[in-house]
Amino acid sequence: MPNCPKCEKPVYFAEKKTSMGLDWHSGCLRCERCNKTLTPGSHAVHQNKGYCHKPCYATMFGPKGVNTGGDSYSYTQK
Ligand SMILES: [Zn+2]
Ligand SMILES: [Zn+2]
Repeated sequence: MPNCPKCEKPVYFAEKKTSMGLDWHSGCLRCERCNKTLTPGSHAVHQNKGYCHKPCYATMFGPKGVNTGGDSYSYTQK
């Protein structure tokens, strides 16, 4: 029996929502920050907690000041 990553209680089949490789209660698949209901497969997970991509995940964990012109990292370099 998988445990819900949010409330850490067993998730029974009838109430299971699988998303991002984790099994959630349907009522637990919510953004940890803004409490918005999340769409399975279209949200972010950080340390077994669900977040909506925007604005929450981007605000809390998104890259900050990473786009500095790419002088230290180049996608085209082979
Ligand atoms: Zn739960
Ligand atoms: Zn959110």
